[in-house]
Amino acid sequence: MRDGTIRVRVWNEYLDEQKRPEVASVYPQGLHRTIADFLDREEGITAEVSLITDPEQGLSEKQLEATDVLVWWGHVHHGEVEDRFAWRVVERVQRGMGIIFLHSAHKSKPFMSLLGASGRLSWREADERCRVWTASPSHPVAAGIPENFVLEREEMYGEPFGIPRPEDTVFISWFEGGNVFRSGVTFRREYGKIFYFQPGHETYPVYHDENVRRVIINAVRWANPAIIAGKFDCPNVEALEKIGAD
Ligand code: ZN
Repeated sequence: MRDGTIRVRVWNEYLDEQKRPEVASVYPQGLHRTIADFLDREEGITAEVSLITDPEQGLSEKQLEATDVLVWWGHVHHGEVEDRFAWRVVERVQRGMGIIFLHSAHKSKPFMSLLGASGRLSWREADERCRVWTASPSHPVAAGIPENFVLEREEMYGEPFGIPRPEDTVFISWFEGGNVFRSGVTFRREYGKIFYFQPGHETYPVYHDENVRRVIINAVRWANPAIIAGKFDCPNVEALEKIGAD
């Protein structure tokens, strides 16, 4: 942001996906790479990747200080993210870094900590059709997105979703099996903007879908902070005016 360029970091586990042919056939270099590549092609955005296997789990102070918007994808290794790194992410969001939680990131430590919520939901992996409805067409994250669009196969996530009341519900999804889900929701925590977006099961080509890509690009631009504050503290301060003047 500071020089006008949005610095994005896409974080992923990438432990199981690379061993599963049904994932590798859809995302040969990992879905973090697919996401980073389409973001990096956008004007005014540069994107890098971080993996859980990197030093400091890809969440070093240096890396986060060079990140305006963090995109988080994880599924079965949430518990292995060390608390000190999860808190580092939380603290930077509080100071202004934007964060986009994708798909199964609803059970990640940063998601549950920032929202103070369980992230619970119901799910089903049944190759079912999903129709994403744009519930807030005037929201910047919905710019250029049709009234609704279809993903031919997606993992079902269903209500009730364990989140606090969103600032905006931008998308609501319907699934072939009858469930519905608040699939695109925004929050703010102190200086930082947060967007959760449900599409993105690893065995389906969801991140190759043009509408899904547009939503993520829009969300990165929306969450880009105007400022990222220095470390917060709680100073004991002198009075500016005379106290108890008669
Ligand atoms: Zn999934």
